[in-house]
Amino acid sequence: MRILLANDDGFHAPGLWPLYEALLPLGDVWVCAPEREQSARSHALTMHKPLRARERKPQCYAISGTPADCVYLGLHGLLEDRPDVIVSGVNRGANLGNDVLYSGTVAAAMEGALHGIPAVAVSLHFDWTQEVETLHFDEAARVGALVAKQVLERGLPHRRLLNVNVPNRPHVEGLRVVPLGERLYDVLADHRTDPRGRPYWWIGGAPQGFAGGEESDGAVCDEGFATITPLSADLTDHDELRRVRTWFS
Ligand code: MN
Repeated sequence: MRILLANDDGFHAPGLWPLYEALLPLGDVWVCAPEREQSARSHALTMHKPLRARERKPQCYAISGTPADCVYLGLHGLLEDRPDVIVSGVNRGANLGNDVLYSGTVAAAMEGALHGIPAVAVSLHFDWTQEVETLHFDEAARVGALVAKQVLERGLPHRRLLNVNVPNRPHVEGLRVVPLGERLYDVLADHRTDPRGRPYWWIGGAPQGFAGGEESDGAVCDEGFATITPLSADLTDHDELRRVRTWFS
């Protein structure tokens, strides 16, 4: 089996290499990761400047682009053969609920799904106040590899991925397959003045819990379970499709 591993925190991020180690027993692992952090870049592609790929160790590339660039370049430029699965992570921070729309981690997996390769995105859910030293990337990597193994054995339908979130603890309570909920954040657009007297803005507030019910991903992950949510590239809302059609018939 051939595995392409990507992330959005960058080639030197603490979550990438535990997942690399956990995936090694499953097959031939290749790494295509951004050379710098690309969190919250979603599915951006670099179209107007060149991309550089530097092989830092055999089959492991640091790439001067976005997470989606990394998977695209891995599939069409760097890997000798097509991978059987794309794995992205372990992200330093949850991708729960609407986070998946901003996430570079999920986008890297989605890029694989769009090219017809089943994919898994893995993220570690922790409180912002926790120190990096207390993060259990090894446990998240173990869960991520376990899910990747199932995907390799059973496959996924076309243009699908599994979004995995792992609570930050030495051992998860178990695995639960649940829908996305809603993640709530403070709204922040902080207006400041730079040392040269010119205005600038800083956006993005602190997380404020979850909505969407007790059986949705955020609530279940908060209870200590790793959550798995199947996602599809097809964003069509089929209920609304029927309703909006009546407006124009
Ligand atoms: Mn990230």
